[in-house]
Amino acid sequence: MRPKIVVTQPIPGDAVARLRQIGDVTYRTTDGPLPAAELSQLLAPADAVLCLLTDRIDEVLLATTPRLKIVANMAAGYNNIDVAAASARKIAVTNTPGVLSESTADLTFALILGVMRRISESEAFLRSGQWAYWSATLLLGSEVHSRTLGIVGMGRIGTAVARRARAFNMRVVYTARSVHADAESLGAERVDLDTLLAQSDIVSLHVPYNAATHHLINAQRLAQMQPSAFLINTARGSVVDEAALAEALHRGIIAGAGIDVFEAEPTIHPQLLSAPNTLLLPHIGSATLQTRSAMARMAADNIVAFFAGNRPPQLVNPEYLA
Ligand code: NAP
Repeated sequence: MRPKIVVTQPIPGDAVARLRQIGDVTYRTTDGPLPAAELSQLLAPADAVLCLLTDRIDEVLLATTPRLKIVANMAAGYNNIDVAAASARKIAVTNTPGVLSESTADLTFALILGVMRRISESEAFLRSGQWAYWSATLLLGSEVHSRTLGIVGMGRIGTAVARRARAFNMRVVYTARSVHADAESLGAERVDLDTLLAQSDIVSLHVPYNAATHHLINAQRLAQMQPSAFLINTARGSVVDEAALAEALHRGIIAGAGIDVFEAEPTIHPQLLSAPNTLLLPHIGSATLQTRSAMARMAADNIVAFFAGNRPPQLVNPEYLA
């Protein structure tokens, strides 16, 4: 029997066509996540779901989806899914790592350059007609090249950021749970978080969000950074205590921040919106047509592999079979 597959929100590329080759697909073509009760209704008859990071797949929902066998998340992070609850119900969970590393690293550098060279602010200044003359003191920013970049989490994206940092002649220090030889071959040096915060001109976050990384960057850690330093977050919002960050920016504890991800997206902490020297983006780290199409295809391929009787290539919970 052909599996019933639900795609919860619009996705680019050929992923839906690929899924239609192997199953009966319900494709919801309206953007935006459904309220829990409606998502539960949509998924009730499903054998598989291709979902986005805004779809909350928690224990309560999984209790209403008795047929569900695989949750294929179109994201590298999967903190929107209760993986333990899925495993307990023998449901496979997959993600889409790797294909988005380069585009997310590009966006990380866009944030670094954007906030330190005051790009948004400068363009707004020009467009508002305020530019009257060239001035030697106009919109002075902060040097990016040759600075010390602290990478918190040297995984796929952290390593792609470290590669770009070489071209900017930067010193790179990093923290991770283990030594990363590929990053060290790029000249990156593993240090503890205290040292990284104290020495870095730019602190860039690339850890997954989980209980261990919740508010990893809090008021105390922000105070350990240099007052001239910048914080960049393209990981997940709740890795940072947003209220503490807003206060640190208002009080000049750090010099600025470039943020792509927020604690309660799309709601932004009002104090962060009014903070000086910030560049805030609507979670577009992987948002290129090529990358998002590749992510969608990877999520679909995990579902295809599952129903062909194979182990999904990007399985995150091998314990689901136990
Ligand atoms: P990854 O390859 O799994 O790398 C994660 C890194 O974090 C690893 O180096 C890991 O260390 C380290 N780590 C994990 N827990 C840690 C902890 N408690 N303290 C210090 N380091 C820790 O993941 P990735 O593909 O680079 O993606 C990273 C995250 O970026 C994703 O989880 C996702 O949330 C986010 N992301 C955001 C966007 C966006 O649009 N803004 C796009 C893609 C991904 P070890 O290797 O030593 O275990």
